[in-house]
Amino acid sequence: MRFHLEGRLVLSGDISKAASDIPAFIEEANATVLVKGAPAGKGARVGLFNVKGDTLEVTIDSDEFVRSHDALVRLAKLFGQRFGRKLAVGVRRVEADNYLIEMELEREPLQLARIPFVETLRFDGKRCTVTFGKLDEKFLSEKYVDRILTLIKDKVNAQHYAGKSEHWEQVFRSPERPALTDQDPTALLEKEGWIRRGASRGQWIFGPEMTRLFRTFERIVERELLEPLGFQEMIFPKLEPFSVWERSGHAKGIYPEVYYVCPPKSRDPAFWEEVIDHYRITNEVPLEKIRDRLDLPVGGMTYAQCPALWTFFQGRTIANDRMPIRVFDRSGTSHRYESGGLHGIERVDEFHRMELVWLGTRQQTVETATALAEGYRRIFEAFLELDWRMARVTPWFMAQERLVGDADQSEIGTTDYEGRLPYRKGTAEEWLEFQNVSVNGTKYPRGFTVKLQSGEPLWSGCSGIGLERWAAVFVAQKGMDSAAWPAGVRGPYGGTPRGIRFL
Ligand code: ATP
Ligand code: ZN
Ligand code: MG
Repeated sequence: MRFHLEGRLVLSGDISKAASDIPAFIEEANATVLVKGAPAGKGARVGLFNVKGDTLEVTIDSDEFVRSHDALVRLAKLFGQRFGRKLAVGVRRVEADNYLIEMELEREPLQLARIPFVETLRFDGKRCTVTFGKLDEKFLSEKYVDRILTLIKDKVNAQHYAGKSEHWEQVFRSPERPALTDQDPTALLEKEGWIRRGASRGQWIFGPEMTRLFRTFERIVERELLEPLGFQEMIFPKLEPFSVWERSGHAKGIYPEVYYVCPPKSRDPAFWEEVIDHYRITNEVPLEKIRDRLDLPVGGMTYAQCPALWTFFQGRTIANDRMPIRVFDRSGTSHRYESGGLHGIERVDEFHRMELVWLGTRQQTVETATALAEGYRRIFEAFLELDWRMARVTPWFMAQERLVGDADQSEIGTTDYEGRLPYRKGTAEEWLEFQNVSVNGTKYPRGFTVKLQSGEPLWSGCSGIGLERWAAVFVAQKGMDSAAWPAGVRGPYGGTPRGIRFL
């Protein structure tokens, strides 16, 4: 890598009179702070310099070890130490006029990438040249440059993975079980009146028969899994502010799928009077007038469900005697803008999910995941009697950064549970992911600065049980005659309730 920066220290006073002290200062910097931490001969170096009234102009060349922008900041600090007292002059700020960076990429880009803040971006084979124009202190001192270089590398790598499916490796397959139907479950459920479309897109209203099935699934999970493993119920918030997604990592990528939440700019009725009057006269909700009165989004509706929990632990140290922590939430809906991907109850914009979260040492976290996997297996084999399989897949946070690769390198990873949809036999959608189990390593504890009393690294995991997906797979395989369902579901279901009848 090669960095060439033309910048300056803007000082609090004129140093023209002390100009003769500057060469020795630059020499000292080149021999000390600008090479500190770099292999011999690979540090940063001030080449040209020039005193111009209250600024010290410099050019800095470097390798990757002390990057020129970091060198400029170090130079400013040293200047303060050497001259602050002596000349009663300090550094007001650092700036750059031009910055050129060359780096080698792992792979040649397939197309140009667009990057904010960058003036020009050129590729020559695997060599990438980035230039910037004027840069201010915040930009230079807060790692913007480094993140831009990482972003370029990630985007180029992503170009090579685009279209390639993520890592997927089957780790279990149930015995093939003959299905009792080959119909689309949503069509069956709608026809029998167990569900009806909601007024909003990708939203369903679940009638008494269907709700009883959801609750039956929940009860099975509680009895067979949550109670034996000591999972305790909590209530997680359902509006997730950006600050939570910044810490969980979701801020890096979920924007296209979020249902955003905007508060009003004011709750003063006078501020809304025109909207109210407009509606009363036209009987139409004036959307544009409402938009003008909305503040910026504060975040969005629940997306992944577990991130919002972490504020509970944020900045705290958890007592050893409470380890491992095992909790779950089922207090509300999750929302995703699935756009054209909507399909029946299988892919909806509003869904219901039990989310399990566990925290502990590395060993405890992995043990919990293993215990859950055993419990789930018993439930799908002995209660739901599904035709199902399990696969190791790329964890979401790796997929999101498009670092698609081999996910089975360590204990960190995601297992997807997939059920067969007989009505889609022979198509790419024959298998539907209906839940997953993830061991997330130290990702969340680090993101939310949570520690363990013992000082050992804190790990966590989570598992999302999608009720619509469970129901879709179950009804797709077992049909709607509850008397014909497997005993493990038929029993707790207790017969189809009297639903609602229309004329
Ligand atoms: P897919 O690849 O099917 O979009 P995903 O990878 O986006 O799934 P996750 O983010 O892993 O799903 O969500 C965990 C669980 O949440 C899923 O296993 C599923 O049960 C449920 N889920 C996610 N999106 C939807 C949706 N649009 N409709 C219904 N359930 C969903
Ligand atoms: Zn989760
Ligand atoms: Mg999805």
